[in-house]
Formats: sequence, structure tokens, C-alpha cells
Amino acid sequence: MNKPAEIRHHTVPMWIGGKAVAPAARTGDVFNPATGEVSKKVGYADAKTVDAAVKAAGAAFPAWRDTPPLRRARVMQKFLALMQASQKEIAQLITEEHGKTLPDAMGSVQRGIEVVEFACGIPQLLKGEFSENVGTGVDTHSLRQPVGVCAGITPFNFPAMVPLWMFPMAIACGNTFVLKPSEKVPSASIRMAELFREAGLPDGVFNVVHGDKEAVDAILAHPGIAAVSFVGSTPIARHIYETCARTGKRVQALGGAKNHAVVLPDADLEFAADALIGAAYGSAGERCMAISAVVAVGAAGDPLVKLLEKKAKAIKIGPGTADGMDMGPLVTAQHRDKVAGYIDQGVREGAKLVLDGRAQALPKGGFFLGTTLFDHVKPGMKIYQDEIFGPVLVVLRSKSLEEAIALVNANPYANGTAIFTESGGAARRFENEIQVGMVGVNVPIPVPVAFYSFGGWKNSLFGDLHVHGVEGVKFYTRTKVITRRWPHQDTPAPGFHMPTLG
Ligand code: NAD
Repeated sequence: MNKPAEIRHHTVPMWIGGKAVAPAARTGDVFNPATGEVSKKVGYADAKTVDAAVKAAGAAFPAWRDTPPLRRARVMQKFLALMQASQKEIAQLITEEHGKTLPDAMGSVQRGIEVVEFACGIPQLLKGEFSENVGTGVDTHSLRQPVGVCAGITPFNFPAMVPLWMFPMAIACGNTFVLKPSEKVPSASIRMAELFREAGLPDGVFNVVHGDKEAVDAILAHPGIAAVSFVGSTPIARHIYETCARTGKRVQALGGAKNHAVVLPDADLEFAADALIGAAYGSAGERCMAISAVVAVGAAGDPLVKLLEKKAKAIKIGPGTADGMDMGPLVTAQHRDKVAGYIDQGVREGAKLVLDGRAQALPKGGFFLGTTLFDHVKPGMKIYQDEIFGPVLVVLRSKSLEEAIALVNANPYANGTAIFTESGGAARRFENEIQVGMVGVNVPIPVPVAFYSFGGWKNSLFGDLHVHGVEGVKFYTRTKVITRRWPHQDTPAPGFHMPTLG
């Protein structure tokens, strides 16, 4: 006899007010993409559950805001140590729910941990400015104060790293936080909440609610939330940005991408091909910084495509937990089928199919798809225009660097890009003229380290401030400027003209 779902599968709880809270009535499936089986259930929060999380965060805010930054940093340091000790455990949860290989998951957790490391320096980062004697006997100083309860809404592809871009910075700045991770990969967030509590974080400072559109809508509508950080696809990012702007919430909404690598004929093509293969097919192409379009300039084209084909064919595809795998499955069957649909589309559009991911021998059962390479792709084709978010690499040909730069700049996405060349002059021109937020020179995935800020331009980011680094501090704080004079016997008589403080 079948057991009820809640018994058959572990159900991932919410985290509200410093403790695990039983999931809501509505639940969804969490898959193991390597087997295709439902491994867990997760509760989907309704407006009432979101309200409980916001209330817990609101109640914790005054005391946390008033906790000296140095003490907040000490909690962060303990959290850092616990995260380092738990890196493998969290990576395993990611591989189990997302499907990416264990070493890849380890690397992504490491990049997230580096944001916690950066957040430990918050006392220095919150220092304001001071000017003595801006007028006779008058001093001015500025300070940064937290904004209140902040929310984070995150995508499936980095279950720990993307939340870690947000909540450590927000909390170090003195805010409290409600995280709504992707319902496809809910477990890493709950584990991080437990570790943060163990580090000494007061109850209610960090909360996690799971769910889908209903939970997100409740966050957007909640008057108790002051700021929203979003990372996900472009249509939802735009919706989040517009809704928050309308309701007066501070917002940063990072969207999708189509990242180009421009390869010049003078590049070391073997080196470039190795870099591109990892950047295109690593994490099965489910990275917002994946290289999904190569622009081969002039004579680079034919030899580069040959190298890419050879290397893409050699990629080992299997469960992310197995040793020696380069690429795991896609996140869901639905997503795998959508990506496979793009391969059909590319063939219909007349692109040259060099390697067909649908036709490769793959492990049975899971949501696997092989590596696909298209050549002679044209800018008007859907496989170029859309973010496919899977193991599909398209190659476009270009006659010159100028033409390649114009092509990249005409694309509505502008997250990351890279150039492969041995010419300093060409690289400098690229750096200067390219209209993209994150640029690599012979570096295929130029994800900035934690003490810089991450974010694209155009349809890849709606809002003014990027995440983590100094821009993260700016996003999660408001500046206040104070001008003061201490009354003494020279206090002037009331004045009715514009004060000039001379
Ligand atoms: P998604 O937009 O489908 O989901 C992101 C979040 O929004 C999830 O928490 C989801 O529950 C929620 N959501 C989904 N549909 C919604 C709706 N209709 N209304 C309100 N909320 C909704 O994205 P995804 O598929 O989880 O992630 C992949 C996307 O994220 C890709 O487009 C990728 O490029 C992008 N991404 C961007 C960055 C970046 O830094 N720019 C980083 C990682 C991922």
C-alpha cells in the first residue's frame, strides 16, 4: 500500500522566527534530476505564511539594527566557519536537487561563502564621512542605516550562491531578511538558516519561505517589506522591478542572459576552446554567466568549431554524484524538453547542427540531454535570440572585431562577455566599447569576486545597484547626512534667507 506523500517523502519545512515551521497545505515535488524521481516535497507558502515571516523579521529588526556592527560581524564570522565546515554537505544537497556535479556545486558554495567573508568586514564598510567646519562652527557627517525588512527571491540554478549574494550583506548591514528560494531546490536555504542560528543569529533575523508565484506576489504586496532583491529570468525580473517601483520598494532585479565569447584569429585556439567548453556546458549550461554564443572572427572560425566539436563530444555526462563527470542532468523533465525543442528549432531555422545532444547515449531515467553545437547561426534565429539555458552552444561568424562588437552590443541581454585574443590593443578596445556589465579577457566566466559587485546591464538587470561588494552595502543601506552646530553665545538671530553657513 502506498504511504501518504508526506511520509513517503521528506517534506522541506519553512524557517520562521528561528525555527523550522511545518509546510503549508499546498505542496510541490522536489526531484532528483539524476534519477527523475521525486525525492522530497516542499510546502508552498500562501499570503498568511509570508505575513508570519515578515512579522517575525519586523519584530527582530529594532534590536538587530541597534546591535553594534562589530557584534553583527562576530556572528557573521561564526557563520563563515560553519559554512566552511558544511560546504560539502550543502554541495551534496545542491547536487541532489539541481543535478550539477559535486565539484561544480562545491565551487558555487565557495563563491557564496566568499560573500560571507566579505560581510565580516561590515564595520569598515559602514563607515560614513565627516567634514569639519562646513560653515563656521558647523560640522557635517553622513551615515549608513539599514532599510528594514528585506526580501530575496532566487532562481534554481545556484541554490546557495545566489541567496548568499543577498542575505549575508543585508543582515550584516543591520536589516532582517525573508528569503524565497526556488521551489525546485529548497533544502540548501534551510540548512543555511540552521547554521546561521547556530552561529548566534537572533531568531527572526533570517527567515525562509518556499513557494511559487503566490508567495512572490505576497512578498511584493507586503507593506512591511522595504527592499527586494531578485535573481531569475528577464520577464519575471521586469515584473518584480515594475511592481516594486510602483509600490515604493527599493529593488534590484537581475534577469537572464545571452553571453557571447568573441574569439579573434590571433587567440590560442586550443586554450580558448577548453575555456569555452567549460563555460558553455558546465552545469549543463544552466548558468546566467554560461557562454551560450561564440562569435568567431575571420580565420578563427573553422579550426575553432572543429576543436569545440571534438571537446564537446568528449564531455562525460552522468549523475552529479558520480566521480569524473563533467556534466549532470538538467533540472526538470520539462526544462530538458524545452531545451531539446530549441535543437529542433535550430535545425528548422537552417543553422548547421554540428553535434546533436538529442542523439547521444545518455544515462537512463534522469533528465539528461547531450551537448549540442550549432555553427553558422544568424542573429535573426530564435536559437540565438532566446536564452536557452541548457547545453547548447551556437557559433556565429563575423568578419572583424568591429562587427563582433556591434553584434554583442545589439543583443538585448548584457550580463557577461569575454574576448579571446593575444592582442592587448584589441582586448582594450573590447573592454572599452562593449556594452556589457561583466567582461573577461581570456577569462570565460568573469564572475566578479565578492569584494567587487555582480550584475549585468540592459535586460540582464533592472535597477541601479549590483549585488554584493560595495554596491551591495549601498543597496541594503540608506544614507543620512547630518549637519550640526552646538549653540553658544554667538548663536545668530533667526534668519529667513537660504542658509549659506559662510
Ligand atoms: P525564474 O524566473 O523562473 O524563477 C526565479 C524565481 O522567481 C523563483 O524563486 C520562482 O519561484 C519565482 N517565479 C517564477 N515564476 C514567477 C512568477 N510568474 N511570478 C513571480 N515569481 C515567479 O528563473 P529560474 O528558472 O529559477 O532561473 C533561471 C533564470 O535565472 C535564467 O533566466 C537565468 O539567466 C537567471 N539567472 C540570472 C542570474 C543573474 O545574475 N543575472 C543568476 C542566476 C540565474
